[in-house]
Parts: sequence; structure tokens; C-alpha cells
Amino acid sequence: MIDPVTSFVYDFSQGSKDQKDLLGGKGANLAEMTNLGLPVPPGFTITTEACRAYLEEGAEPAGLADEVTARLSALEETMGRRLGDPADPLLLSVRSGAKFSMPGMMETVLNIGLNDESVHGLARANSNERFAMDSYRRLLQMFGSTVLGIDSEVFAEALDELKEKRGTTADLDLDVEDLRGLVETFKGLIQSHVGRPFPQDPREQLDLAVRAVFDSWNTDRARLYRRQERIPEDLGTAVNVQVMVFGNRGMTSGSGVAFTRDPASGHRGVYGDYLQNAQGEDVVAGIRNTVTLADLGEIDKPAHDELLQIMDTLEKHYRDMCDIEFTIEDRKLWMLQTRVGKRTAAAAFRIAYMMADEGLIDLDEAVRRVHGAQLGQLMFPSFDESAARELLAKGMNASPGAAVGKAVFSSATAVEWAEKGEDVILIRKETNPDDLHGMVAARGILTSRGGKTSHAAVVARGMGRTCVCGAEAIDVDAKNRRFTTADGAEIAEGDLISIDGTTGHVYAGSVPVVPSSIVRWFEGELDATSDELVTAVAALMEHADKARRMLVRANADTPDDASRARRFGAQGIGLCRTEHMFLGERRELVEHLIVAENQSEQEKALDELLPLQRKDFAEIFKAMNGMPVTIRLIDPPLHEFLPDLTELSVDVALEEEHGEHDERHHQLLTAVRRLHEQNPMLGLRGVRLGIAIPGLFTMQARAILMAAADHLQANGDPRPEIMVPLVASVKELEIIKAKLEQVAREVEQERGITIPHKIGTMIEIPRAVVTADKIAKVAEFFSFGTNDLTQLTWGFSRDDVEAEFFSTYFEQGVFQVSPFESLDTEGVGSLVRTAVELGRKARPDLHLGVCGEHGGDPHSIHFFDQVGLDYVSCSPFRVPVARLEAGRAALGAE
Ligand code: PEP
Ligand code: MG
Repeated sequence: MIDPVTSFVYDFSQGSKDQKDLLGGKGANLAEMTNLGLPVPPGFTITTEACRAYLEEGAEPAGLADEVTARLSALEETMGRRLGDPADPLLLSVRSGAKFSMPGMMETVLNIGLNDESVHGLARANSNERFAMDSYRRLLQMFGSTVLGIDSEVFAEALDELKEKRGTTADLDLDVEDLRGLVETFKGLIQSHVGRPFPQDPREQLDLAVRAVFDSWNTDRARLYRRQERIPEDLGTAVNVQVMVFGNRGMTSGSGVAFTRDPASGHRGVYGDYLQNAQGEDVVAGIRNTVTLADLGEIDKPAHDELLQIMDTLEKHYRDMCDIEFTIEDRKLWMLQTRVGKRTAAAAFRIAYMMADEGLIDLDEAVRRVHGAQLGQLMFPSFDESAARELLAKGMNASPGAAVGKAVFSSATAVEWAEKGEDVILIRKETNPDDLHGMVAARGILTSRGGKTSHAAVVARGMGRTCVCGAEAIDVDAKNRRFTTADGAEIAEGDLISIDGTTGHVYAGSVPVVPSSIVRWFEGELDATSDELVTAVAALMEHADKARRMLVRANADTPDDASRARRFGAQGIGLCRTEHMFLGERRELVEHLIVAENQSEQEKALDELLPLQRKDFAEIFKAMNGMPVTIRLIDPPLHEFLPDLTELSVDVALEEEHGEHDERHHQLLTAVRRLHEQNPMLGLRGVRLGIAIPGLFTMQARAILMAAADHLQANGDPRPEIMVPLVASVKELEIIKAKLEQVAREVEQERGITIPHKIGTMIEIPRAVVTADKIAKVAEFFSFGTNDLTQLTWGFSRDDVEAEFFSTYFEQGVFQVSPFESLDTEGVGSLVRTAVELGRKARPDLHLGVCGEHGGDPHSIHFFDQVGLDYVSCSPFRVPVARLEAGRAALGAE
């Protein structure tokens, strides 16, 4: 039963896993586990709605405090203990939990309710004073850093100092007196850093901790993480308040994290880390080295067996790989968290495929669960097995990939060097949430401590960064910016190293890389059964292809690109940019055309270009035999084919000074001056060129149609589609179409055959959108040029703005991703929708596609599916990603 909508606080027994919006991921899953009858310590969740209200009003919303009081009383009644009771205190944990997991957004505060008095009650009730003192110092440490905002290093340093004094590196070697002293030290640190004592009132501790969770939504690192992961800014976080169970009550207690399958490889078999006599954060922080779940079986078989059974229950219930946090308190197992676990790209494909194979899910669901971005990652190269290399160390294969870069030992350096264009590998003993900037900037991350569930590993996997963690053989000396290996090898800042996140190997120098097995399979060099990953990808791609409604074409201008696109599964060419055929040696021929002083000179230049173009098209038709090939007539401003105005002016001036006179240079300079434009992207380009210099478009059309005729007569099946760029008015298209049809008639007559072809246009100017019905009467197809459409809708120069000021726009939340990268569905998308509707009304069989960069962007592809485009077109390398996403879109995946 759910309370009325005004409720800000839900007991765990009231929610379910489907309420992540309201209860956050952690809260929703705690509720789900509670309702599954699993051993979850009781507690309640303060909703994201309360957080949003707090962030808006700058104060806790009315009624929240009373609701917390009521829930707390109920909890106290259930437990038979009161929060912070000096005799036998009930203690609570406070944890953040947003809809999407955000590692490191806010650390947990444990042991709320302890103070100078109740710490003795805890000691007495458990007959364990060391445990009570250890719990209190943890509260002071976590509260001090997380709630009161004191640098966590302050506490860590005091702890390290004490350990050094005692001649140990292990927390467990500290005795009661040490911990009692540490409690006093920590209290003193709090007083001196914030000018007030640690709050002794348990309820005040609770309220401050809840408020700190709310506030943590807006810390720099949370914002950065959201931007990186494209998580909306306005969701807010829930707060989970839960009865404490203790993993630090001696050696019969402990904490652990586990996965129901290997999150790195996707292989079956449970996987996890356990740490005896420890509270949760110790495991993830990599502070001490953990043992495996198999070892837990030796330490405490009943708890181990129960855990495995619960993991099995969870995997079957969620029908997915789950990750789990658990605590064993004096041999009793408690579940503290579960969620569908983060995984590497390879694991995502394997797990989805295997679960379908096991009958846990169907293939539709398997395809919904893998992402184009993950497929993209699998298409990256890996290290060449046969290359000579010097192995420096072996760590854990925490996040796959092959990364090469210069060694850096701080996040600040990583950012600084990356901004200068250097590839860097960030090397740390262990990472913490403050390293997020550095991790984003680095090609790969290497740590010497911590397991596959350490911060470095979890965050790197989430970002798709290569990561090797826990490489214990290296001794990281961050201060002196170097590390040394067990064998005495030394790597200093700036030295090149290579890390293999798939095997965990760390190499000196730059190891050569080889293409991915997935790419080799697409290329036809490997068989689908060659390895498990290829098998999984092949099966899911096949299913996505069956499911998808949209076709996928490629943007390709050369026969090589066209052939590759075809091997990667392209069903045609959606954009052949013919201007790319005028570069290199042919540039001079274009120059001749531009500087031509009369019609006959112009025709001569065009005659020289014609056979070259005809050969280009013939090769592409051959590569794409039987498939549509959309050829766009020349688009960019002509001055792009001419020398730079300043350089040429200097050359001519120098020549004059030396008494030389080069007539050609003079002519060129005149042409360059004539064609110079303040805003070339808004100037003489696209269809305007076709109207101003008619011979150019007709030469291209003739070359296309002659090549098609050649191919036809060689028993080929050419399907040319001639596309006119940058049309704003139907009149422009009418003028050009008449000329193109005239050429078609001529070529058909000359060759005595009918040449199948279509004539259509790009839709990339807002005026074309709003008059799309008129244009559709003339055009047989539309292809959305969303690059220019974005440029012209926002009024953003596509060549300048991203570098100029987009980072400020991201920071201020104008948008989270560049509209040039992922379609602005609200603005530009609504224009696309309008043009589709108007166009189809005027011509029901109008063929519709997109060939802007967005054609290869997963999020945009889903939008294009929704508005009913017939195909997307993207670069050859993105074709598999687009195929998968088109399949996922058809299957209703988000
Ligand atoms: C576009 O504008 O989206 C497009 C595909 O054309 P170009 O990028 O060549 O301007
Ligand atoms: Mg364009």
C-alpha cells in the first residue's frame, strides 16, 4: 500500500523496484528485496520529491520532519530500541540513492545515533568496547567529511599518523585505547575545522545527514558525473535511512559486494569480494585487500550458502545480472543493496545472449539490453598479441580495452595534459570521487590497490574507460610522480605505458594495437563461432536486423568506404558527398572552372572533370550493385577549392616586387576576391551554386547517368538517387530538376536505354521544412541534413561554437549534449517531424531518410524511428551501431 501522494517518506515495505523515479534506485530495490522476504534491515526512504522541494525552496518541505518522526517511532518500536539510547542505542545509516546510480555522489554516513554516551551503551550491549569505539570514530570521520564538508584527507592523515606511530598499516591492529584517542582527535578536528562541536543529539545528526544528501545532488562532482552520463539535472536524490547492521563486530562479521555473473567478461559464476571485520565502505575503497566469495565459503559456510541462494533468487527475479552489497553481522547475513549491475560492453552482450539462451529472457529483451555505444566500444582495437612487449605488472582486468598514453600521477595533471592533446594514463594508488575529472580526461586508469568493485573499477566500467586495478606489484609514489615495480623498473611522469583492461596486463612503452574481433567478423575475416563474444554479438545483431523497421545506409564517397559499409551491413548509400571527389590533384581542374572567363573555357574545364566523375560513380555503383546510392550534387562554397586569400595576396605582392607577373596568379586572386564571403556557410553554396553555375550540376548529373548506363549495360543494377543540397524554396528545386531531367533525357537518348533514377532534395534549411509540402510535389525523396538544420535552427556556426562556448552551456545546463552530436529533438526534431508530415501529405510514397551526423547517434536514431523515417545514414564504421539501435527502437527500448 502506498501512502497518499503528499507523503515524503515510504517504509521499505511500501515500495517496489518500479518506483525508481520516486524512491531512487537504491530505495526501490531495498523495497523490492524487503517484499521478496529477503533479510533486509528495516528502514525507510525519503523521496526524490522531498529532495526536489528542498532544492527549490532551500529548506526542508513542510511536513517532512513530522513524517520522519512518525517513521522513526515505528522503526524504534519494531526494533525495540530508541535512536541513540544511551543504554542500548538504535543506530542508523543514511545513504543517498538517485534514480540512476551515481558512484561517489555522496558517501554513506553510518552509525548515526552514536555520541559520547551511547557509545558506552553500544559497548555494553555488545560486550565489545573496541567495536563501539571503532564505530564512533567511523561516524565522526564520515559525518565530518560528508556532512560538515571537511576534507576527508584530514581524517585519513590522522588515522595514518596513528598507525605509523603504532608501527602498523592495518586498521585492525589499533586497540581500544588507540580508537578512543582517535575519537578525541576526530572530535577536535571537527571543532577546529567548522568551529562547532560534533552534534551529540542523535536526531540532529539524522536531520543534518539527510540535508547533506539533498545538498550532495549539486556538488561539482555530481554535476560532472551527470553531464558525463547525460543524467538530467532536475531529478534529485532519495535518502535511505536504515537500521545499522555491523560488519565490524569482530571476525565473525564482515562486509562484501558481489555480482551474480562476472561484470567484466559476463561469464557465469558468482563473483565478489569480502572483507572480514569491516564496514561496507572499506570493501569498495580498496583500503584492505579482500578475499573472494569462495574464501567466504571457508570462513562461514552457512552465510555463504544463503548468500548464493539469495543471489540466485535475485537474478531470477530481476532476470538480469545483479550486484549486491551485503553484511554479515555475527554470522547473520543481511542484504544492504541490490541493483541491476553495471557491466562492460563485452559482458553486456554475453550476458544478454546467454540469458536468452537459458530462457530467462527472450531475444527481443536481449537486444533491448545492449546498447549501440557498447557495440561501438567493442569495435575498438586491442593490443597485438604477437608484438614484443615488456610486462611491468599484472593487475585486475577491471574495464576492457587497450589504452596507451603518458603516465600521470594526479587528476589535475591528467586534465591539464589531455587538454593539450596528450593521451594519458592516470595512475593512482586508488581513486576516489575527486578523481572523476582525471578519469574522464585519461585514456585509461591504473591503480595499485582495490578489487574489481573498487571505485576506479566501477566508475571506469561505467564510462567505458580502460582500467586495470589492484596491480599490487607497482609501488605508486604520487608525490614524486613515479612508480616502481617489484623488479625495480621505474616509470616516471611522462613515460609511455600501455594497459590492457581485458587481461589486466601493464606494459612499458607503446604496444601496437590490432582490430577488434567484432570488426574482423564484420569484415568477414572471422567466423561467427570463432569466440563467445562474436557469437553473442552475431546473434543479437541478427535479431536486431530482423526486428528493425528502418533501413541503414552509409555516408560514403569512395568505393573503398562503400564496400566496407556494405560489409558492415549498409543497405545503400545515403550520402555521397561529391565535393570530396574534387580534392587532391583535381583541385586544379576546379580552379580552371572557377577562373574561366567565358563559357567555352568553363565548358572545357567541365569536360575535363566529367570523365573523372563518371569513373568515380561507376566504381561506387559497382560496389553497391543493387542498392540505392544517393549522390549529392556539389555543396560547399567554391572558395574552398581555391587558395587562401591572404596567402595568395602575399604571393602576388612578392611577385610584383620582384618584377614578375604570373597571369594565372592574378586571375586566381581576382576569383578568390570575387568569391570571398563573410559567411560562406550562408553564401554561394548548394543549390545556389547549381543555379549560378548551371554547368556544374549538369556535368555531375551527366557523369552519374552515364556511369549508371555503363553499369546497366554491363548487366549491373545501379540505383542512383540524385540529391540537391540546401534547397530553401521549391522554385530552386524546380529550376534544377528541369535541368537534371533534360540531361537524363539526353543520356537516355544517346544510350538508347531507360536509366532508373530518382531526383530528391536535402531538407536542411528551416524554410524548406515549413514549405515541405510544396517541395515534396517536386522531390521524390527527402534526406534530412541535420547538421545544417541544427546550425540554422539554433543559429550556431557548426564550425565554431562547440569549441567556443559549449562547455559554458553544459555547465549552465542549457543542454547536456551538443545538439550537433545528438539531435535536439525538442527543437530541430520538431522541424523534422513537421517536414515528414507535410511531405507525406503531399506525396504519400515520399521516401525519407537522414544523412546528418545524427544518423549514427543512438538517441537520435530512436527519434527518427518514432517520426517514421525510412532509413538513417551514417559513416560506415557506425553502421552496425545504427543497425542495432534501429532494432532496439523497433523493439521499444529506450
Ligand atoms: C547536413 O547538413 O546534415 C549534411 C549531411 O550535409 P553536410 O554535413 O555535408 O553539410
Ligand atoms: Mg548540409
